[in-house]
Amino acid sequence: MRNSCVESACDCNSFIIVDGRRRPPSDYRDSFHKLGELGVIPKELVSKFIPLVSLRNRIVHEYETIKNELVYASIKRVSRLFRQYVKLITEYIRGNSKQRKYKEVNLVTAKLLDGEALAGKIKEGLKKEIEELKRKGITPSLAAVQVGENPASRVYIRNQRKSTEEVGIDYQLHELVETTSEEELLRFIEELNWDSKVTGVILQMPVPGQINARRAQMTISPSKDVEGMNPVNMGMLVYGQAKVAPCTARGAMELLRSSGVELKGKEVTVVGHSEIVGKPITLMLLESLMESPTPTVCHIATKDLAQHTKRADILIVAVGKAGLIKGDMVKEGAIVIDIGINRVPLLDEKGNPVLNEKGKPKKKTVGDVVFEEAAEKASYISPVPGGVGPLTTAMLLKNTVECAKAQKQVQ
Ligand code: NAD
Repeated sequence: MRNSCVESACDCNSFIIVDGRRRPPSDYRDSFHKLGELGVIPKELVSKFIPLVSLRNRIVHEYETIKNELVYASIKRVSRLFRQYVKLITEYIRGNSKQRKYKEVNLVTAKLLDGEALAGKIKEGLKKEIEELKRKGITPSLAAVQVGENPASRVYIRNQRKSTEEVGIDYQLHELVETTSEEELLRFIEELNWDSKVTGVILQMPVPGQINARRAQMTISPSKDVEGMNPVNMGMLVYGQAKVAPCTARGAMELLRSSGVELKGKEVTVVGHSEIVGKPITLMLLESLMESPTPTVCHIATKDLAQHTKRADILIVAVGKAGLIKGDMVKEGAIVIDIGINRVPLLDEKGNPVLNEKGKPKKKTVGDVVFEEAAEKASYISPVPGGVGPLTTAMLLKNTVECAKAQKQVQ
């Protein structure tokens, strides 16, 4: 059984995975030591590379502290050398893994689509945009409505508050009692729709059984619909003119576009056809009249899933079943976007469950795609966690800003 997995692209943003853990360049030292010990790369190369890693980390740290031009020039010089070494080492790993010389080492050639980093950049942009809006007297303000108690949405609310405040959006939480009737909730939402200080409204899910969730969500005014779920906004997606759109679908598209790969002419397979993810993604893929790729949508009733995934240049999966997409279902060189979120038991090297201090099995979060297998074939792949998830939050913020701008008629 393979227990180590190595990825290396030839630049400083590259990363490697050893023993299933992603490591940034600052962590290369241990990984390359290990590869030297295994004999995958010559020990002399490791002993030349390690001091370079230390030097690079030291100057990067120094630059972060003093932002000096001279230090910046040294980073560039050392980085160039660093890249040459990484390239050389990559070739060794690639050669050895092609020959299957070292069973425990396997080169993963896919580049990681880093949702965390992309979301960070989007949030930085939004922060500046909100500062500008505030100078014009416009403050994006999100009203969240929670009916009754729910531990899962409590975590969600905490994150919502944190991320809205981070970029400068006003956040207010309205907690309604568990026994709130549907009529009372609809009336409350209508009040928020009319409140000119509120620019966005979000209804936390799930709602208690006496309330029709869809009807309540549809009551949110299309101009304040930060989740992009109102039929008016869904309809605008059909016309390719949506200002706001379902957050996860929009996040997945941002991540896909960040690969820089042209979509025109590509075969895309979307697995999952829910209203919140699969269907809006498909409409977004078809947004452009002439530049669209060709999407195929698969779902629970699809007869032969593998037949569709295997021919996909771009594979987007949103199902909620761990291990659904295996390596042999992925086309060589495909872009894989994994949206699924699943909690599965954490296993040790022998395949036994790892227990926590209370003796209960520990769990980890995985997607719908078997990451290690798919990463061997794909050209780009999004991880779970750290892929589409952070972008879903970023897109909620973006939608909130778009709603505020549209209401105040700012371009
Ligand atoms: P859903 O239950 O509404 O839809 C699931 C879809 O998968 C359906 O279209 C169904 O037909 C299809 N499906 C089920 N079994 C299948 C199979 N064997 N083969 C092919 N298709 C199959 O789920 P959803 O709300 O769209 O969410 C899907 C996944 O995405 C879940 O794991 C969810 O947790 C995750 N998700 C992630 C984010 C995020 O921010 N990353 C946001 C929303 C949802």
